[in-house]
Amino acid sequence: MAKRKATPQAWAGIRHFKPVDFQCQCGNCAGKDIPISMAVVKKLDAIQEATAVPIQIILGCRCQAAQDRKNGGKSISAHLPHGDEGEATAVDIICDTVQDRAKLLHAAFIQGFTFIGIGFNFLHLEIGPTTTKPRVWLYRHGKRVEG
Ligand SMILES: [Zn+2]
Repeated sequence: MAKRKATPQAWAGIRHFKPVDFQCQCGNCAGKDIPISMAVVKKLDAIQEATAVPIQIILGCRCQAAQDRKNGGKSISAHLPHGDEGEATAVDIICDTVQDRAKLLHAAFIQGFTFIGIGFNFLHLEIGPTTTKPRVWLYRHGKRVEG
């Protein structure tokens, strides 16, 4: 995994979010690196700009320790730092009305999020691998269902 470059200036153009909004919430790694992909941040910022829906982030990055605790063992997630850049490539946001779902999904497609999960009260927005076709999945009993 490549070491990430610190890019504080990358946040200068972001209007609606701060790095802390994307940090792991486990309480053990706060204040350390926040390895969120700036491409995710920029797309989410553009979605906020394009919609009147006040976006609330549920989850940006998650550290491996927190991921392992949640799932009771090793597992993978786009919220973990991964890939060549060592970055998290997904964000979960609150979405719990039919109107917000329509607005946020429309904007998310325009922004080019290619892996989208629709939960009962949230959306998972992810930049999938460029080698994989776009996909949209649902959640049932907390588990991803691709159907
Ligand atoms: Zn953590």
